[in-house]
Amino acid sequence: MSVVTAPAIDVVVFDLDGTLVDSDRALDAAWLACGVPLDRITYGHVLAAECDRLGIAVDDYLAAYDPSLVVSFPGVEEMLADVGRWAICSNKHGSAGPAELAQLGWTPEVALFADAFVGSKELAPVLHALGITAEQALFVGDTLHDRHAADDAGCRFVWAGWNPRVGPTPGDEVAQEPAQILAAAGGQLLV
Ligand SMILES: [Mg+2]
Repeated sequence: MSVVTAPAIDVVVFDLDGTLVDSDRALDAAWLACGVPLDRITYGHVLAAECDRLGIAVDDYLAAYDPSLVVSFPGVEEMLADVGRWAICSNKHGSAGPAELAQLGWTPEVALFADAFVGSKELAPVLHALGITAEQALFVGDTLHDRHAADDAGCRFVWAGWNPRVGPTPGDEVAQEPAQILAAAGGQLLV
């Protein structure tokens, strides 16, 4: 089988929740503690907007959020150790995101959270902080918000296919396991 190639990139930018970490338990527990039933919980949104939708105060949600329930997906730690330059672009709240990174012991070159964006996440400020162009980056995410952020910035996008909730469309690049991100960053198209 021939390997389809793309230009190698310099920095891999990751979404956090649902991409590098499985935070479902932490997110669900916080919503449940705030009185939100399980069937109303969805993922990948800006916290303030989601709190608005559900009638919950952001501070109450953050007080109920326990980052110790967050775990990295299998293979993520090993991939990050080998990936070279990497960054975070996440809709997570600006106070919860850095705390979670600290707990995981992760030190991305740049990590921007909801307070850095106007509305939903944008790659442009992340690329700017990294000092690179969109062509030099690869964005890895698990939701359509991520896909749109990559499209808006003109950045290559790979689905975090190890999260069973991802919904790629035919022709999209999908990494079935974190280690495949290393191949993608090296110039292999995951189609
Ligand atoms: Mg996500």
